[in-house]
Amino acid sequence: MTRTTPPRPLDVASVFPELADMARTATRLHPRPGSPTVYDSSVGGPLLWPADEPWASCSQEHPVYRLNTPEEIRTLRRILGDAWRRPRPPRTNLLSAEEDAVVGRIHAGHPPELMPAGPHPLLPVAQLYARDVPDLPCPGGTDLLQVLWCPFEDIEGCSQAVQLRWRRAADVTEVLADQPEPPYVGTDHHVPAPCVLHPEQVREYPAGHDMDEDLDRRLYRWAEERSLSYRGDLSVAPGWKVGGWAAPYTFRDPDEPDDLRCRECRAPTAPLLTVPSGEWDGESGSWRPLDDEPDEDAPPYPGPADPTMVSVGRGYTLQFYGCTRELRHLPVTVMQ
Ligand SMILES: [Zn+2]
Repeated sequence: MTRTTPPRPLDVASVFPELADMARTATRLHPRPGSPTVYDSSVGGPLLWPADEPWASCSQEHPVYRLNTPEEIRTLRRILGDAWRRPRPPRTNLLSAEEDAVVGRIHAGHPPELMPAGPHPLLPVAQLYARDVPDLPCPGGTDLLQVLWCPFEDIEGCSQAVQLRWRRAADVTEVLADQPEPPYVGTDHHVPAPCVLHPEQVREYPAGHDMDEDLDRRLYRWAEERSLSYRGDLSVAPGWKVGGWAAPYTFRDPDEPDDLRCRECRAPTAPLLTVPSGEWDGESGSWRPLDDEPDEDAPPYPGPADPTMVSVGRGYTLQFYGCTRELRHLPVTVMQ
């Protein structure tokens, strides 16, 4: 099944021709819960990993408050999903007594002291085949990008906690069957639920902070007079995506462009992958695909805009910036 973004309510570049040169394409990934295989593009799915190559790992120490095993996170989600799906007579609790006890134990977690010394295997975040994702820039004959991270709070910056692998899929003849998992995760928000993708290419214009102030002000006023939001409706697409422009909002000081240089070679970087805290929100609701009409009978958990169960900070976006000189360099990740 495909996913189709509704047309933008107005063609902003026909009114502001200076925007036409700033148009970029992005590929919305439209992840939806499923059972991807190693041969599929996915979020949170198994990876096409060579049997003879060590799994990506992280030796950094992370601030830890509470630990859970990945299996506990899956159990928690299964219990809550089942509970919201079954019919519930009035004045009955959402959870049975046994479920409530299990959920309580999982929420209590394990003490940080249990964390064994590293290195720890990383978790698959995304696997993207070039055939599915038109905006994937593939260095040197590669056609597959794998993204992994260490499921603790500190996924921002540039370190081995967030890694990329670029591959040529045909080179992987023997696939690693037993894919390792970290013994514990520091936050369930960084454990992606397995999703299949329905990629769709869209056109984007830069967010206000990526253009000159005067144009930003004129666009803002013009959109407001038409009861639209340039940021929410007309500029960048929400949700998981590859390429395009940076997130619509940033904490970064625009006077510090150096933050976005490659930490290995100082070359400029460009938006590669966006990991959001949801596929759309109140402000960006006009980007909700036509195929995802609100369904009043759908259970509220997991929410329709939250297929991957990933969230970043307090509902922010984690933008991956790739080196424009050598995409194999460590990516820079920025929460914004
Ligand atoms: Zn570089």
